[in-house]
Amino acid sequence: MGRTGGISPRPGRHVRRALCVSVAAFLAVSCGYGAARDDGPPGALDEPLSDATGGGAPARAAEPPGLALGGPQRAQTERAAAALAAHAERLRQAERRRVAAVRNWRVERLPLRPPPPPDKKPKLVSDSGHTAGDGLPPVITRVPTKDRVVFLTIDDGYEKDPALLRMLRDLDIPYSAFLADYVANDNYDYFREMHRDGVAIHNHTLNHKELPRLSYEAQRKEICGQQEVLREEIGTTPHLFRPPYGAYNRDTLRAAATCGITAVPLWAEEAWAKRFDWGRGDRVFHPGDIILTHFRGKAEWGGTMPDMVRRTLKTVTDQGFAIARLEDYI
Ligand SMILES: [Zn+2]
Repeated sequence: MGRTGGISPRPGRHVRRALCVSVAAFLAVSCGYGAARDDGPPGALDEPLSDATGGGAPARAAEPPGLALGGPQRAQTERAAAALAAHAERLRQAERRRVAAVRNWRVERLPLRPPPPPDKKPKLVSDSGHTAGDGLPPVITRVPTKDRVVFLTIDDGYEKDPALLRMLRDLDIPYSAFLADYVANDNYDYFREMHRDGVAIHNHTLNHKELPRLSYEAQRKEICGQQEVLREEIGTTPHLFRPPYGAYNRDTLRAAATCGITAVPLWAEEAWAKRFDWGRGDRVFHPGDIILTHFRGKAEWGGTMPDMVRRTLKTVTDQGFAIARLEDYI
């Protein structure tokens, strides 16, 4: 699941699912999916690669159906089998790189791979206790799914640590950024690079104000203004918006809807370099939980972004969850 190659680097979910199913069927190799379902304990770092890839069964020579066919049909089948074999080899290489990255970045356990994205995104409604209404974007702290996945979201844009980009790229961990212009704007190059890695960039307002204190018009300026900045700087118009401090009122949601926002993801847990805050008393992840963290560094946190990633990955993997891509679900 390479993340190189421009604004939309990943193939569509249908294509990815089809490729994986085909490859797995033909060559009995893992496509890296399925590990986050209820199929056993998370992989430990010292497991051999065959286990780490989740498949265990070695690749065998392809025996495509239709060998009795002659001429063009047989040639076509052989070409298809060769393409699938090449794809399987790329997957195996990607998994080897991921295992190496886990060692290089001193991540304690091999993170689980998320299952394939849903064919259809779940219908969202605001969490109980949050504002809902016709035409208003739903406000959620978790995505309705039974998959054992959680989502990593990073806010503001103050610290621009190149190690964070390298680490999450090497580990192939998906995440989403919610940028506030007033701290992001001294180096949008950093976030363009992030976007080229396949990371979606979303809206966290221009100036990070407490929105309910502002008029409808002023809120609209904060949200639509940042939509324009991101369109110009990143080249895409976000469809997700997170209000600063999680503070919003009905005007916020009305304003956000007019700026093209379709959902307002808040969060269920918060990750830091040196601790992990649970939103609920049970202190466990629930499928679809959204994790909040921030672009911060040693000065504010006493730790680095890679420290935060290590702690978060361990917490997530220990509970048998995988980090999935938020935009695959909402
Ligand atoms: Zn913020």
